[in-house]
Amino acid sequence: MAMNRVQFQPGLSMSEFLEHYGSDELCEAAVVESRWPQGFLCPDCGCGVHSPFRRAGRLYFQCSACRYQCSVISGTIFESSKLGLFRWFVAMHLLTQSKNNVSALELMRHLGVCYKTAWLVKHKLMEVMRLREDGRQLTGRVEMDDAYLGGERVGGKVGRGSENKVPFIAAVQTTEDGQPVLACLAPAPFTSEAVASFAAKSLVRPLTVVSDGLACFIATEEAGVHERIVTGGGKASVKLPQFKAINTVLSNLKTGLAGTYHAFNFAKYAHRYLGEFQYRFNRRFDLSSILVRLVRAACVTVPHPAEVLRTAEVGQ
Ligand SMILES: [Zn+2]
Repeated sequence: MAMNRVQFQPGLSMSEFLEHYGSDELCEAAVVESRWPQGFLCPDCGCGVHSPFRRAGRLYFQCSACRYQCSVISGTIFESSKLGLFRWFVAMHLLTQSKNNVSALELMRHLGVCYKTAWLVKHKLMEVMRLREDGRQLTGRVEMDDAYLGGERVGGKVGRGSENKVPFIAAVQTTEDGQPVLACLAPAPFTSEAVASFAAKSLVRPLTVVSDGLACFIATEEAGVHERIVTGGGKASVKLPQFKAINTVLSNLKTGLAGTYHAFNFAKYAHRYLGEFQYRFNRRFDLSSILVRLVRAACVTVPHPAEVLRTAEVGQ
């Protein structure tokens, strides 16, 4: 049997993780390295001369020129968190290395924190992932379909209309022979308007869109579709080989969600759960460097207070 390229890659082992990031100090050093590869630079005046000091156990810098003080986490997604960076890194390690998703409840147990804290950590990191994927664009052969988050099935065509289900557009860029490469998932109905706006943002020429939705082709014409494959629609079409990649992706999504989240507010946070899945999926071949990249993304993501995270995204 052929080895699965994703499942059998080495990734970052727990022992390697602990060796590199096994304390708050090591994690602080990783954040400093990520934010200021040439050494600390004052965010206020740009001066590089500074004195490090500690307050309440956390690393701070004071600029020698203008006396500006900031902590190692100021201006990042970690800002204002009382949690030490080691526990943030454990959360990032679990979220990126586990086969399926890790829920806030599991994080609560792993980190030894209350549920509210675990929820915030989880949603802040999901938002980092979502924002990182926000500009994702697909090109070449792209399979497109409508799918639903929540309810009995994810990605299926049955059971539409039940409560707490969120429609989303699923698109998967494939190789010429139909192997999935990149995914792009957006909470939106499969209407001409929504597909057109999705295509304008997320699809780039040259394009070959494969879909069973006629409206999809009209809507993606603007984006430069030059070949169309209409399968005829209906339940049987999703089993066709032309849809193999998208079915694989939607099936992964379904498995990940079903095994992890028993109940959450799909309608409110669908964009974030889809963003997390998309981030992980699009980096599935690179498990050994995914943590370093997530740390980098977390450092360049502005702080997101809880009240902002609890507000549903405008337009979703
Ligand atoms: Zn300064």
